[in-house]
Amino acid sequence: MKNYIKPSEWSIIEEGFDPHYHQISESIFSLGNGRMGQRANFEETYSGQSLLGNYVAGVYYPDKTRVGWWKNGYPEYFAKVLNAANWTIIDINLDGEQLDLAKCEVSSFRRELNMKDGFLKRNFRAKTAGGKEVEVEAIRFCSMVDDEAAAIKYTISPINFSGTITITPAIDGDVMNKDSNYDEKFWDEIGKANQPNGGYVVMRTKKTGFEVATGMQFSVLQNGQVVQPQAEAIIKEKYVGSKITLQAQQGQSISIIKYVTNLSSQNHQPEKLVDHLNNTLNRISTKGFDTMLAEQAAAWAKKWEHNDIIIEGDVSAQQAIRFNIFQLNQTYTGEDDRLNIGPKGFTGEKYGGSTYWDTEAYCVPFYLATADQKVTRNLLLYRYKQLGKAIENAALLGFKDGAALYPMVTMDGTESHNEWEITFEEIHRNGAIAYAIFNYVRYTGDETYLADYGLEVLIAIARFWSQRVSWSQDKEQYVMLGVTGPNEYENNVNNNWYTSTLATWCMDYAMRVIEKVKASAPEKYTALAARIKFDEAAETSRYKHIIEKMYYGYDEKLQVFLQQDGYLDKEQILVKDLPATDRPLNQKWSWDRILRSCYIKQADVLQGIYFFEDQYDIDTIRRNFDFYEPRTVHESSLSPCVHAILAAKLGDEARAYEFYLRTARLDLDDYNNDTEDGCHITSMAGTWMSVVEGFGGMRVRDGKLSFQPFIPEKWSSFSFHIGFRGALLNVKVSKDGVNIKNASATQVTVVVFGKEQVVEGNGEVQIKTN
Ligand code: BGC
Repeated sequence: MKNYIKPSEWSIIEEGFDPHYHQISESIFSLGNGRMGQRANFEETYSGQSLLGNYVAGVYYPDKTRVGWWKNGYPEYFAKVLNAANWTIIDINLDGEQLDLAKCEVSSFRRELNMKDGFLKRNFRAKTAGGKEVEVEAIRFCSMVDDEAAAIKYTISPINFSGTITITPAIDGDVMNKDSNYDEKFWDEIGKANQPNGGYVVMRTKKTGFEVATGMQFSVLQNGQVVQPQAEAIIKEKYVGSKITLQAQQGQSISIIKYVTNLSSQNHQPEKLVDHLNNTLNRISTKGFDTMLAEQAAAWAKKWEHNDIIIEGDVSAQQAIRFNIFQLNQTYTGEDDRLNIGPKGFTGEKYGGSTYWDTEAYCVPFYLATADQKVTRNLLLYRYKQLGKAIENAALLGFKDGAALYPMVTMDGTESHNEWEITFEEIHRNGAIAYAIFNYVRYTGDETYLADYGLEVLIAIARFWSQRVSWSQDKEQYVMLGVTGPNEYENNVNNNWYTSTLATWCMDYAMRVIEKVKASAPEKYTALAARIKFDEAAETSRYKHIIEKMYYGYDEKLQVFLQQDGYLDKEQILVKDLPATDRPLNQKWSWDRILRSCYIKQADVLQGIYFFEDQYDIDTIRRNFDFYEPRTVHESSLSPCVHAILAAKLGDEARAYEFYLRTARLDLDDYNNDTEDGCHITSMAGTWMSVVEGFGGMRVRDGKLSFQPFIPEKWSSFSFHIGFRGALLNVKVSKDGVNIKNASATQVTVVVFGKEQVVEGNGEVQIKTN
């Protein structure tokens, strides 16, 4: 665990330059706007350890899967988001010496991620080996207003010399992915040019054929005045640069403003990319850096109006929750239903930038409450559009009649993980996709989605489960063999309680939705049934039989659901009794030892209890929590939040807060020693859930929001914004009560501590706690 980020309510601040933290900071200080994003690499050359990362959403490469022995059903490739052309480069040379912080004496250094206004700022003072000292300020952002645009303002002032400074802004398409399976380069150059005050490169991905044009246009200011210096064109393979030579005076500043655009053939015809690129560059450079920055601040102010969480009395918690919300908004804006949320967002390569069940199980609740409903709808449509591929995926494995198995890891709907035993058998993801539809409709009330798209997905998923179960002659019940639950520290188990529970719920929900759609849109239902050859009577009678006769493991003595067959045969030593030196298990123990142990990576039975909380009485929840949590090592970032919410539900406020802390500052404090690979973006939604569903106790029941809040001891108050069915509420919880303000004209009825409260349009209610 590190502790080098300075406390601040609205900013992430690093002071002093420690190269050991550099790659962690490159992740933490990442920027993005939903369409593109990048790690906080330095603009000037840096020869120390660094992970270069510039990403364009949806642009990926199918890297051939590495496996020892190929078997039927293995996915052919592992999809990965590509490290794309580096557009941040502003190389600096001082009288023949390159400015490189790895080789300089750095006397002051500060970087700040300003979350309020959405930019990254870096200030430093450094002396080269030759004794030349400069002061630098670099500000950059990815525009939230124009998601194909970005800008950098880089200002350098010589402190102890006058002399020649050369500044070389450049675009470099000659980049690699660090984690490529075969050390391959994934981009071919298909065009480049130097232009007056700028240039561009156009790159095409191998195999997938995405074309991305990345261009720059710059202007230079000397001591605040625009100058037109001579620039020498530098053209190399996949690279364009402009070497600008200036005579600098001691104490006077030189600024370069680099306007950038990144355009992909996903959104433009390939032959028009360069035209669009030039239009965008002209448009943004005419607008100017200051106007772009002001627009950026206004766009972020609007976001914060809808999703800020304010915590009074604890700066570190305040900073953490804003960081989580900020990163989620930088990662996904919901504009485009072809895009999704990679576990690392735009902050690193790990997990290939692909879509996991994380989106449906963790991110959906965040976007439902904090963004327009079309944002979540687009996340659902992403899966809807990939239904054909999910049906193909299932067919490849031997399922038939339109059964769908959604992939565990995907870019375009094709299964593309490269860890067969674990990820492949996590078929529970299919259930999370159905659950997200349920969650969306429960939250928004948008039932038209069911008739138009949802039901088709639900039937395909129900079909899968109805074929995936087996009839056990021995038990005279249906069983679910050979699966991996969310707990990836057990593979290929039988009767994972979570998976079986989710499977029957999916079939039941599909039947409920069939009835709904038959009543609300009978012609749509008839057309759908005909198109997908749905034999309602035969298929639903099988679902009913399975639901009635499904086997779920239960231990009578302990009165807990059994995570899977044989779980209690394992040696039951609690996590607290493990030597600290054995943790984290995934770094200290052999895989064999982990699989044989009772240790649980992340919520598994408890994930099911979280989803279906209303089906269990409080004693059942408590027994299962008290049994499973002490065996859980929380080695997935997705784990603590579910435990925080359940602990809150059980009234264990101290533990709820403890779990919250583990998720909230996971990246800022590098809790798991892995932030240098990128931030845990999807679990950030879990942090939000811990506050709103945990401390705020927010649920949606019968079309109404309900709250059962408590306030962590250290805080004097906390408040969150929630959009719900046309209303925009601010819920503030303090020591003496709950205040709900309605910032919209729509009246809503909410339930607080079990009692209905009407909040008039633009009204306010105050509920006192005793
Ligand atoms: C977790 C999975 C998750 C994946 C991506 C793994 O460590 O166990 O549940 O989907 O990370 O976040």
